[in-house]
Amino acid sequence: MISIGFLGLGKMGSVMAPLLMEAGYNLIVWNRSSDKVDHLVSLGAKAAPSPAALASSVDVVVSMLTDDAAICAVFEGPDGLLSVPVEEKLFIDMSTLRPPTVKHIAQQVRNKGASFVDAPVSGTVAPAKIGKLLVMCGASDEDFKTAEPILNVFGRRIVHAGPVGQGTVLKLVVNLPLAVYWGSLAEAIAMGTQGGLDLDLMLDTIQDSSAALAVLGLKIPTIMGEPSPVAFDVASMKKDLLSMLDTGEKFGVPMPATNGVLETYSATIDGGFADADAVEVIRYVTEKMTQPK
Ligand code: NAP
Repeated sequence: MISIGFLGLGKMGSVMAPLLMEAGYNLIVWNRSSDKVDHLVSLGAKAAPSPAALASSVDVVVSMLTDDAAICAVFEGPDGLLSVPVEEKLFIDMSTLRPPTVKHIAQQVRNKGASFVDAPVSGTVAPAKIGKLLVMCGASDEDFKTAEPILNVFGRRIVHAGPVGQGTVLKLVVNLPLAVYWGSLAEAIAMGTQGGLDLDLMLDTIQDSSAALAVLGLKIPTIMGEPSPVAFDVASMKKDLLSMLDTGEKFGVPMPATNGVLETYSATIDGGFADADAVEVIRYVTEKMTQPK
């Protein structure tokens, strides 16, 4: 069985990496904050001291990191993945990045004689834990064939969107309506609250209406204020919105709705909620941005 290296044991990576061992792969892990590797090591993974050491000892490298800066640091930094010979290895990045960054890193990987596919995901920590993500992949046909069995470990469905970079564009397409949905739900709930409606009555009615989204039911406890683990935070939503706006501008698409919700998420971050779950935007708009009656 081939050896796989996994970098980035954050909210998503920490639940995705163990699935590779369950599928029978030899797993080597690296994380910037080294304490996060302990759990994986206790499950049987080996820990690499640096991205370079990890790249030297595996056939395939999977990364799940915050953003473009993280990816550039891990691939191109000193002791980075590309600081050692990597000919014929396969790099699968599953983070949500900006399309130009994906293309830049893919070129750096190709310059070293290796292959790169982008494979960002839709779905959050709960589906990630059980290998039921929706994976959107940008890859050559040949690289897709090699990557697919590994992506199947993480996903209930793997969509081959086109060449490298297209997985990322598709991920932005999927995430844009979701970002706008939570922002618009925040305004709707704030309006209803000011109009004297109870939160649970509004959520119950929305969930039973054509304005319901598949994920709404899962998020209702968080929206109602029940303590729940953060899945996808407000800062990550803003990162994705900025990427959508960049991409829209490049393609000549006006995006007033996306710009509007960006303001709401930015205000929520400025209010101190960067690390809160993205649906906390609803509470922020209702409780902090709305003028008391
Ligand atoms: P997270 O919990 O914040 O974890 C981020 C990971 O990136 C951590 O391992 C972190 O290391 C690492 N990292 C950040 N900056 C770094 C740097 N400069 N150098 C090296 N490592 C760095 O994020 P997440 O929620 O797992 O999300 C990961 C990616 O998946 C993001 O692109 C996100 O947009 C996407 N995504 C997330 C969800 C979700 O529901 N959470 C769903 C779909 C897609 P440390 O541990 O040292 O901080």
